[in-house]
Amino acid sequence: MKTVYFDNNATTAIAPEVRDVMLPFFGELYGNPSSMHAFGGRVAKFLDRAREEAAQFINAEPDEIIFTSCATESDNAAIRGAAEFSGGKPKIITSAVEHPAVLQPCRRLKALGHEEVELGVDENGRLDLERLREELKGTKGAIVSLMWANNETGTIFPISEAAGICREAGAVFHTDAVQAAGKTKIDVKAAPIDMLSLSGHKFHAPKGVGILYVRRGVKLKPFMLGGHQENHRRAGTENVPGIIAIAKACELARLGMDTEIVQLTAMRDRLEAGLVAKCPDVRVNGDRENRLANTLNISFEYIEGEAIAYHLSDLGICVSTGSACASGSLEPSHVIRAMGVPFTAVHGSVRFSLSRYNTMEEVDYVLEKVPPVIAQLREMSPFGPGKTGGML
Ligand code: PLP
Repeated sequence: MKTVYFDNNATTAIAPEVRDVMLPFFGELYGNPSSMHAFGGRVAKFLDRAREEAAQFINAEPDEIIFTSCATESDNAAIRGAAEFSGGKPKIITSAVEHPAVLQPCRRLKALGHEEVELGVDENGRLDLERLREELKGTKGAIVSLMWANNETGTIFPISEAAGICREAGAVFHTDAVQAAGKTKIDVKAAPIDMLSLSGHKFHAPKGVGILYVRRGVKLKPFMLGGHQENHRRAGTENVPGIIAIAKACELARLGMDTEIVQLTAMRDRLEAGLVAKCPDVRVNGDRENRLANTLNISFEYIEGEAIAYHLSDLGICVSTGSACASGSLEPSHVIRAMGVPFTAVHGSVRFSLSRYNTMEEVDYVLEKVPPVIAQLREMSPFGPGKTGGML
């Protein structure tokens, strides 16, 4: 059975070019970049080059790049590090649809006595910048974290405007740009973005490496304490193969993104149009005007997204739902709930997320396989037009 991998917002395949450049660092180039000797120094030079490439990808300066172990670390280091540096209890502002890697550190700060606000979104997942302005009134040195693009719906937030509002109010602005990497242009000089997080495995580098951009002059208390690596800002011997890999992934994304966005949009739009045409009672979730080219989140009313995902998995098709499986009960996704999606659709949301390695043939295969699965599950469902909802 063939595998059709439409779950690229969860993780991506390592690009062959990325794998090739990493391999020597698992072999002869095993030196420690912090060593005094030339053997380590040779590796340090590769690290410098990788930092330049990562910086170029987002139009930053090399000394503004900190390599981390993942975006969860980058998010925690940014938010908790800025709060700790402030010495006081600045207000924390985020959105209700952030990834847990942002929401949980914000809530931890709330537990530690900070005022914390999670801005809501409208039915299309859009942010109201007036609310942000309101929440910033009268604050001093607030910390704001808003995601560039949502991992579940692909909705893109107006990050430049949000960053501008924060700068005016004297707030520190962080953005989790994990899902934006390689799918939309990131330029930290075009807007007053103070900190930005990226994750290698979301754009064709391996798992276990991330980036935190910190604008010159923005102060953080380091999250990881120990050695002097990363200019005293992130202790721990560098994951050299991972860093070489993420730098190559940055280069590939920088060079290929414009063409890829066109291809991804064509595939995603064909998938969306096909599913909407072939399956009754569906709802496309997210902001269709401002959405990542690779993401389609669609609710199939009256059935469970998990049931759909399991059935598709049996057919070799990999997709996701946003539900959290906790103690046997399926909690619907906090993102879909925050958008106020109607009850009949909230449980039936499925995310299809594509990459440069997908093809139109795969889209057509999925379009052939999904409608019968939906029809079969709808027949079994106690919910739906004319049904009693399981109650007699
Ligand atoms: N932020 C967003 C928006 C994500 O989608 C993810 C991963 O799903 C993360 C953060 C966490 O990334 P990592 O797996 O690198 O910790």
